[in-house]
Amino acid sequence: MVKADKKICLRCSGCVAVCPQSALKLTEHGIECDPDKCTKCGICVRFCPVGALKLED
Ligand code: SF4
Ligand code: SF4
Repeated sequence: MVKADKKICLRCSGCVAVCPQSALKLTEHGIECDPDKCTKCGICVRFCPVGALKLED
């Protein structure tokens, strides 16, 4: 799954839009990842303009 650094994230929703699995959503707590949907493809990590996303187990 993917973790977003809340201190860096701009809440632009770009990662939500590019995820092919619809695994990300923007909530009041920031970007949240559904580990059952995420395939760890890394597309969102490469897309994020401020480097706020990290792949995790
Ligand atoms: S693309 Fe980056 S800055 Fe934009 S919402 Fe996602 S994690 Fe935050
Ligand atoms: S790593 Fe891939 S599947 Fe997982 S949240 Fe990012 S874009 Fe979606």
